[in-house]
Formats: sequence, C-alpha cells, structure tokens
Amino acid sequence: MRARVSPFLLGRRVIRIEVGERRRINVQEVLLLNSDFEPLNVCHLRRAMALIMLGKAEVVEIQDEAMLTTRGRLPAPSVVRMCYHVRRPLPQLRLSRHSVLARDGHTCQYCGIKGKELTIDHIIPRWMGGPHTWDNLVACCRRCNLKKGDKTPQQAKMKLRTVPRRPHFIPYISLPAYLKAQNRDQWGIYLPVFEAFRSSQESHA
Ligand SMILES: [Zn+2]
Repeated sequence: MRARVSPFLLGRRVIRIEVGERRRINVQEVLLLNSDFEPLNVCHLRRAMALIMLGKAEVVEIQDEAMLTTRGRLPAPSVVRMCYHVRRPLPQLRLSRHSVLARDGHTCQYCGIKGKELTIDHIIPRWMGGPHTWDNLVACCRRCNLKKGDKTPQQAKMKLRTVPRRPHFIPYISLPAYLKAQNRDQWGIYLPVFEAFRSSQESHA
C-alpha cells in the first residue's frame, strides 16, 4: 500500500499514536530507506515525521494504526524513503557466530537442517591450521558436527552444500536490528535475506 502524507497536514507535533489492542509491532519504529530503496536505518516515528515535513523524505508504506496529530487522525508512516541519495560509509560486517549463522540462513551446511541448535564448524579444522575466516566457517548442526569431528569434509566423507564466502551484501543497519526488522511483515520486501543475496552472487560468480 502506498500513500503520501502532505507535510502541511501534519501539524507541529505528533501527540500520540493509537495502538490496537493486540500490539505486535513497535509503531514508533519506522524503516528509513535511501533514495535507491536501500535500507538505511530504523528510526523513531518522530524523526521520520520531521524528515517528511522538511520535504527530505516521502512515505512509502503506512501502518494500520492511526496517528493523532494536532490536525486530527492521520495514517502513520511505516516505511519512508529519502528524496535524495544519502552517501554512507561502506559497512563492515564483523565475523561472528551470529553473522555466520545469518549468512547461512540458520541452516546446517552439510545436511540442510534448519534450526536454532546450530554450531559453527571450521571446515579445515583449527588443529590443521584452518583459519577463522568467512570461507572456512559454516553453520553446522550438532549431529554433523559430531560426525565430522576433527576431520576435513573429504576425510569425513561429507559434502558442503555451498561454497562459503564473505557476504557480498552487507546491511548498513546493524545485523541484530536487521534480522529483527526482517520479521516485520511490511518491511520484509525492503530487507533482502542474506541467503538470497549470497546465492544470487554465487550464480554470477
Ligand atoms: Zn547437519
């Protein structure tokens, strides 16, 4: 759903947000996109309204909950987009258990099982000098981890489903915020899944 809110209708101050009985999402949070729709940030509704009123951003999606302003009830923005391109520093993604699991879509890279009980496997074991790098770490279930032990995949007769790489797509938003934001229905389409990016990049490689 697309909607535009004229800045002059909004009054000077947002008084409060009406929230439905079953509050599932934080209506105070607004997804901020760059002019090319790249996700930039999750900001407070007040900040989003200020950007709209200054003519710096436009509304892309509105939320179900109405917003009470000095000018009456208005739809509150859920996703806004900058009217000009914001230059941003190249983001760095720290190599961590969390980021490896996110890259691998929380899926064991040996048997394909999905779940929360995943560990991180060094493909070339550490004792053989296997480095702690993006291309030597994969998500691995406990069963496969036990089976593989301290061997290489070849020695353990196990096959990796993908070639692990450093993710090409690195969100500007912090990883925990990004993963949390992906769960919000209206925002999902603006926040590509790591996995999808990785496989599309691999098919071009
Ligand atoms: Zn497994």
